[in-house]
Amino acid sequence: MPSPTPEAAARRRVISVFLAQGGAGLLLMSWLTWLRQDQVTEVFQRLGDNAPILIAIFVAFAVTLALLKFELTDMIYVSLVLTAFMAFFPLFGGVLTAWIAVLVSAGTRVIGMKQIGPTKISTTDPAIEWVRTFGLFGTYGIPVIAASTLYEYLGGQLPALHATPAAAARIAVCGAFMIFMNNLVMFRVARAYGYSVAKIVKLDSIDVSIYLLTIPYAVVTALSYAAIGWGAVLALAFTGGVANFIARNLAVTRSRSRHQVQRLASLTQIGKTISLRFTTNELLLAIYTECKKVIDCSLFSIALLDELTSELSFELDIRDDHVLPKERMPLGEGLNSWVVTHHQPLLLGSTADERRMGLKSVPDTKASESWLGVPMMARDHVIGVISVESYRKHAFTADDVLLLTAIANQAAVAIENAQLYKDLEGLTYALEQRVMERTNELRETNLRLLAADRSKNQFLANMSHELRTPLNSIIGFSSVLIEAGRSTLPARMHKFLENIHTAGNHLLELINDILDLSKIEAGKMELRADEFDLRETIAAVERVMRGFAAEAKVQIFTTIDPNVPQVRLDEGRLKQILFNLLSNAVKFSQHGGVVALACRFLPRTDSPLGIDTVRIDVKDEGIGIPPDELQRIFVEFYQTEEGRRARGGGTGLGLSLTRNFVELHHGRIDVKSKPAEGSTFTLYLPVDYHEAAYNPRPYVEPHIHDRQAGLRP
Ligand code: ADP
Repeated sequence: MPSPTPEAAARRRVISVFLAQGGAGLLLMSWLTWLRQDQVTEVFQRLGDNAPILIAIFVAFAVTLALLKFELTDMIYVSLVLTAFMAFFPLFGGVLTAWIAVLVSAGTRVIGMKQIGPTKISTTDPAIEWVRTFGLFGTYGIPVIAASTLYEYLGGQLPALHATPAAAARIAVCGAFMIFMNNLVMFRVARAYGYSVAKIVKLDSIDVSIYLLTIPYAVVTALSYAAIGWGAVLALAFTGGVANFIARNLAVTRSRSRHQVQRLASLTQIGKTISLRFTTNELLLAIYTECKKVIDCSLFSIALLDELTSELSFELDIRDDHVLPKERMPLGEGLNSWVVTHHQPLLLGSTADERRMGLKSVPDTKASESWLGVPMMARDHVIGVISVESYRKHAFTADDVLLLTAIANQAAVAIENAQLYKDLEGLTYALEQRVMERTNELRETNLRLLAADRSKNQFLANMSHELRTPLNSIIGFSSVLIEAGRSTLPARMHKFLENIHTAGNHLLELINDILDLSKIEAGKMELRADEFDLRETIAAVERVMRGFAAEAKVQIFTTIDPNVPQVRLDEGRLKQILFNLLSNAVKFSQHGGVVALACRFLPRTDSPLGIDTVRIDVKDEGIGIPPDELQRIFVEFYQTEEGRRARGGGTGLGLSLTRNFVELHHGRIDVKSKPAEGSTFTLYLPVDYHEAAYNPRPYVEPHIHDRQAGLRP
């Protein structure tokens, strides 16, 4: 058998203590009743005609007190009840007083259990309430009997009709004894609840000090029968009743305001708690847990409206702490449907209300009396209903309607958010899937493009190679023919041969350039590391250029600083670079123009490359380049409009190759130009390009700019 929980064990202890005390009280009262039958008769005889009136007053007084019992007036209630018993037992004797006290208290408790009013009675455990009621035989019967017995033992008369100091003293002593007995009897109950002795003593000392204060009131009441008659007793009893009534109202007001503050705090808390839940199920449970703190939720449900099927889906249905399986119901009959269709809260105090409104709830296993349902409004539409029920009549108030409405509105927003969150998650997932698919597609396309690019480069390389062989024959043989036919061939034919020779050379240059470019793009261009003197190289280039310049009527000047050192670069490629720059400068100059080549050394501290560098400027006074085209001229096949018009011919590959060669050397090329004023191309080349390879300086290459700007085809 599973061991009982601590609460179950405490409950069992409390029940057995109440049963034992109730039984003891009942036995004691029955035994004394039988033993002292004549006492009751004697009391009646001595009180004479007043007896029924006095007993009626006592009963009415005791009933009023018992009904006025309320959580916060509990202490006052107990004091007044004790005062009443103290005041009446000298008049009626222990037996009669004890029976009236027990029956009145038990009677009002039973009424309370049926129709719960302002009492401490709880419906959650009816068994315990019944044994507590039975226990009243012990808690009231025993102290009253004990005190009245002491009273007689001390020589007190029954009924005490004459006010004397001795009678007052006896009543006071017996009153104190009765209070003591009451606490003694309750001690066992408190122990059964699990209170420590120290705590019980502490609590009892506070209670007793309040109870003891009522003794003078009891003495005065008891002794006033003889002195001023029963009218005065009635007045005193009435005063006590009024005092209790006022105290109770005060307590009710205070308790209400405390309750309201508590509800307000709970409401804020609910908002906070439920807004943190992201899945609908978690959220619904959180709403239930929070509602439970402020409203009776033994029967609780949340139904969401499914607009597509016009159904109410009971997502959370709780009956007496049990979660019922989810259910769906067509929108139409029933209280929840009424709330959804009317967009209004519905409060029913009893099944009679339900009938009066012509409504019909869905039948349950155990029919409830009160019903409260409120719509969950998100923005301007209803998304569902929160409802609570109770087996009690009129269990919910207008305050509860307001409270539940506030909760429902917060819940609606949270549920909508949870739904949106779920949708968003779905969308994000779909988006991620799509991005993944696209990435894969792009990767494949990229691979295909790379493959195509490789084939293109390969094709160009093969093609150029294949073209170069016959082209060399054409150039070679045309050159031989020119020489041989100089005197024999007619001038026109000779001119044709020269044209063939020039065109062949031009074609060869173009093929060579294309070959170089495709090598660079394929990453197969390798540089040689020649150590040489720049002066000689520049002089050689200048020598070749001179003829071409003379033809164009342009003069070339070169200056080389004496401190320019020996360099380690690919000499062939450097010559190609210088040829390109110088031939462009000559080509785009006017007749009589001047082209200047200047070469100097830049120590690493002054160089943009951060290493020892040679700087070569090629300056002309030609047509210049418009600012917006300054970077584009480095793109393969790009030619400026002006440039094309000025000279014609050209391939647009020279500068592109130049820049590639410069960058392969880890150098840099800049251009400054103004249309109609001329251009200056500036080269920065490392003195030793191997050193540059190991000390790359992070600067953004213009080349990369172009690629990003999409300038390359
Ligand atoms: P090409 O000279 O065969 O046309 P380049 O790549 O060497 O090809 O030059 C590209 C374009 O840049 C030229 O067509 C011309 O428009 C412009 N350009 C190059 N150098 C100069 C210069 N020194 N002065 C003016 N324009 C120039």
